[in-house]
Amino acid sequence: MPERCAIVGSGLAALAAYATLRHGGVEPAEIAVFGTDADPTTEWRARAAAIRQQRMRSESDGHLAAPSFPGLAVRAAIRRRDPRPLFATVANRYNPTVADFLAHADEVRGRSGWDASFRTRRVARVEAVDGGFAIDGDGPFAHVLVAPGHPGLAFPQQLAGDPRVVHAYEHHEYAGTVAVVGAGMAAATEWRNALAAGAEVVSIRRREPLRRPLNVPRPLFTKRGLASFHASSDIERAGLLRELSAPSYPASREWDAPLEAAAKEGRFRIEASVNGAEQVICATGFRRGFAADPLLDGLVRRHDLRVHEHWIVLAPDSTVPQLTDDTRTLSLAGVAGQWAFPAADTIAGAKYASRAFLRRVCRTR
Ligand SMILES: Cc1cc2nc3c(=O)[nH]c(=O)nc-3n(C[C@H](O)[C@H](O)[C@H](O)COP(=O)(O)OP(=O)(O)OC[C@H]3O[C@@H](n4cnc5c(N)ncnc54)[C@H](O)[C@@H]3O)c2cc1C
Repeated sequence: MPERCAIVGSGLAALAAYATLRHGGVEPAEIAVFGTDADPTTEWRARAAAIRQQRMRSESDGHLAAPSFPGLAVRAAIRRRDPRPLFATVANRYNPTVADFLAHADEVRGRSGWDASFRTRRVARVEAVDGGFAIDGDGPFAHVLVAPGHPGLAFPQQLAGDPRVVHAYEHHEYAGTVAVVGAGMAAATEWRNALAAGAEVVSIRRREPLRRPLNVPRPLFTKRGLASFHASSDIERAGLLRELSAPSYPASREWDAPLEAAAKEGRFRIEASVNGAEQVICATGFRRGFAADPLLDGLVRRHDLRVHEHWIVLAPDSTVPQLTDDTRTLSLAGVAGQWAFPAADTIAGAKYASRAFLRRVCRTR
């Protein structure tokens, strides 16, 4: 059976795409997965562990299996013989534990046959050729989904070379005095972590953090909301994506109470710049844009792909229009797919790109 499909990348988006293809009837022998880690949770697991994340940011539907049902709440209720996850999910208040999510990801990996298709390789070049795409000279593959994740961690330039610096998404313990740079979810988590470890915490921020439940509002996950996003001009679309990328964390007592208590004890304060703290934690997210990823940058330059600012311009189904037709597909998933789906860097986003990819693959069966 010839390999028709390839996935480049080995994270959660790649696993979601693989599980979707398998559910759609594509055999392991028809799919090649090129990635750096045989375990698709490796990157995610390390980052979540670094910020001591206990519960998922997403809810019951933030799972990697191809069909929507059952979600993680139903699975937990059945496993534990406890209806409480079901009550919580009705009110959108069920955030699965990280341990449950990782066990679920392992199960999807095992059940889907991922390991039979996996090849350890950091891909340097994806190139359109007759019959599809060559991947570092292998192929051609008619349908390729590229899901390389973020192109590395972002650090403020002015802290370059400072030996006190660690990124929030790298493994670390907490010193006695800790400055946390940033104002998003990772920063808020680190304020609490460092306080719980007994540290004195200084929050370094240029502006007040935005307080909102999700980075991307719910309407942008719906057909209607997406239709108006896709109908907007390039300038409007880029403006919205920039606005959505502003750091934020949820507005609730759960986040505020520990900070207020620590401020009263003199253990939490806000400053504009890093002063004499023993440790500086950069909760400053990831580098941004296709140009920071050599694989995507090469693809854009080689094929003169249309871009807008730091985004690759995509069709609504997350495919690259210049390189996709009735015979072949080039799809981008994960953060690289934001032009098609604002919440591309979530599990819901991974599934959006995966399902559209499967529709393309099936079209040429
Ligand atoms: C701490 C944290 C918590 C989060 N919690 C949630 C949550 O609860 N719910 C949710 O929906 N989202 C959550 N997210 C968002 C989440 O990161 C994404 O949903 C998901 O990790 C993105 O998966 P990905 O496959 O795009 O990227 P990654 O998981 O980073 O995987 C990319 C993979 O591709 C490999 N790769 C890169 N370049 C190449 C190449 N050239 N060749 C081959 N392989 C390559 C990488 O090494 C890596 O293995 C969270 C993010 C973080 C950082």
